[in-house]
Amino acid sequence: MGRFGCHQQGVHAAARDDQPGVAMTQTAVQTEPAPHTNAAAAAGLHRIVVIGGGAAGLELVTRLGETLGRRKRAHIALVERGRTHLWKPLLHAVAAGSIDRAQHELNYLAQAHWHGFTYRYGEMIGLDRASKHVRLAATFDEEGRQITPERWVDYDTLVIAIGSVTNDFGTPGARQHAVPLETPEQATRFNRRLVNACLRANTQEEPVRPGQLHVAIIGAGATGTELAAELHRTVRAVVAYGLDRINPERDIRIVLIEAAPRILPALPERIADATRKLLKELNVEVMEGARVSEVRADGVVLANGDFLPAELVVWSAGVKAPDLLHDLDGLESNRLNQLVVLPTLQTTRDPEIFAIGDCAACPRPGSPNPVPPRAQAAHQEASHLLRQFQRRLEGKPLEPFVYRDFGSLVSLGKYSTVGSLMGGLLGPSVFIEGYFARMVYRMLYKMHQAALHGTGAVAWRSLAGGSGQRPEPSVKLH
Ligand SMILES: Cc1cc2nc3c(=O)[nH]c(=O)nc-3n(C[C@H](O)[C@H](O)[C@H](O)COP(=O)(O)OP(=O)(O)OC[C@H]3O[C@@H](n4cnc5c(N)ncnc54)[C@H](O)[C@@H]3O)c2cc1C
Repeated sequence: MGRFGCHQQGVHAAARDDQPGVAMTQTAVQTEPAPHTNAAAAAGLHRIVVIGGGAAGLELVTRLGETLGRRKRAHIALVERGRTHLWKPLLHAVAAGSIDRAQHELNYLAQAHWHGFTYRYGEMIGLDRASKHVRLAATFDEEGRQITPERWVDYDTLVIAIGSVTNDFGTPGARQHAVPLETPEQATRFNRRLVNACLRANTQEEPVRPGQLHVAIIGAGATGTELAAELHRTVRAVVAYGLDRINPERDIRIVLIEAAPRILPALPERIADATRKLLKELNVEVMEGARVSEVRADGVVLANGDFLPAELVVWSAGVKAPDLLHDLDGLESNRLNQLVVLPTLQTTRDPEIFAIGDCAACPRPGSPNPVPPRAQAAHQEASHLLRQFQRRLEGKPLEPFVYRDFGSLVSLGKYSTVGSLMGGLLGPSVFIEGYFARMVYRMLYKMHQAALHGTGAVAWRSLAGGSGQRPEPSVKLH
């Protein structure tokens, strides 16, 4: 493994970058003017390009920018198709309306300016490993005017961190009628549908129809379960703002459907038992061992032929890596499209390309399954890669990544938090719930924020939290 510094490819690529507008391949894609890349190449800086600014990628570029970028030891760039970042585990709360997404979003352009990296707006649609460049799609505004052209971005080291997408396993109607929770836009769309459904039901002449205010959540993993509990509270809160023709106990029905024999199949049974008990108290219907065979505009059909009417359907039953990775210029991928990586997080067929987060299949010693697609894994992999890139600069070999499972927590909105903590002083696995569990749950988000803003800023915000807030509804109403 070569260290950073001089780079044959960079000189070659920079020569092309000096000729903006020159067609580089048969596909006649324009070369990006890329002033930063040119400057980086001219200065002989090694170019690290990270694709995807999520839980893993944004932490990595921020900290690389702060260290290597600011000190002019490497040029750091982030390619991201979005304009703002929202930590994905908040999506169910956005969907339920219990948080305002704007208060948690981070602007990529500003983050890049503050932390010493370059932000390139666009979606990666291809890769040329031989010439070491990534192809970005053109971008357009709402009126269809082009913002950025289709272009290439050159790299010396590439990190792919493009996360995961919902896996609907090809279930008929799922794509058309169920809302997945992958992006802030989808979560906002679901929330708008929910509030609209309540407004419609409250204004119509006729009584609420069966299924009209029913929500079917397909998949009772952590996301679906957390959403069910959040929704129970927020729908009632919306109704309490004066929608007096709706009777929540009579009209609102939330059904959680799981194909596996029990909810939270990936978590210890004790967590599932505690969660099931609480959901029952909330009158959330739990269907275990029930497989959905079709999603329709007016509800879901189960494999046993039963039909559940539901105006709102959420799909949260599994994830896979984006199809783009299935055959990305010959890189090895598994059946879930994840890029197969070595313990060093390098892809198996190209040592200059790394993959982290949900889109990487990283081996886990002693386990047949790779590192799970979780925020804590994304955080640990980003931290590991930061240290490894620093080691490379010093000419040291890469060390293997070892995932540490700190346990799993399920937040049941304001009602409770349950989970288990693993390892450390607490022994192999300790069941926790209530206030302590909620504090630990919040720690994961605080760790992410600390990686993006620094520990001091996060501590200050936590202390200042609650003061000087303007009056706001406790749920999102628009
Ligand atoms: C509702 C929900 C709740 C969750 N709750 C928890 C939890 O409580 N605890 C936990 O540990 N994990 C949780 N997870 C899982 C966790 O969010 C993910 O494991 C984590 O976000 C993965 O990080 P990542 O960086 O790999 O991907 P992401 O955070 O998804 O980031 C990927 C980024 O890549 C960008 N991108 C995608 N494709 C392209 C492209 N072609 N070109 C450019 N950019 C691209 C996306 O816009 C995005 O910004 C939850 C997930 C969801 C959906």
